[in-house]
Amino acid sequence: MQEFSLAAEIVESVQAFARDHAHSKILDVGVQIGEFTDVDVEQLRSCYDTMTRQSELEGSQLDIEAVAAAVLCPVCSYKGKPVYWDDARAGTRRATLQCPNCGGAAEPVQGHECLITTVRVFDHEPPRPTSRQTTSRAS
Ligand SMILES: [Zn+2]
Repeated sequence: MQEFSLAAEIVESVQAFARDHAHSKILDVGVQIGEFTDVDVEQLRSCYDTMTRQSELEGSQLDIEAVAAAVLCPVCSYKGKPVYWDDARAGTRRATLQCPNCGGAAEPVQGHECLITTVRVFDHEPPRPTSRQTTSRAS
């Protein structure tokens, strides 16, 4: 179950961040999840909530930004949305690496993202939320 291990990696990264900023409370964690990763964002969110319960991260929100898939075709130079395949059983659409223009095998240029983009913390001094940038690859 990849959502579980991904959530574990996110929690670990944010806990390390929280240890470095002991006076701050973690408010929310921004993550980018690409369409090609096949991560179920609702499952990821519920895994995160379960794991952070009764920890210093309890109550923090996972702010998930979906990154649309895009491909580049080496045959016809098409760049843009890929062909989608309807997964009727799962009730979802999956991005494929097929060129919608010529049907050739395209390469992914966007949509493999799976990383923490921001960690928003509440600093007790001064009492207003601030944004901090941290980047960590959780593959
Ligand atoms: Zn093509």
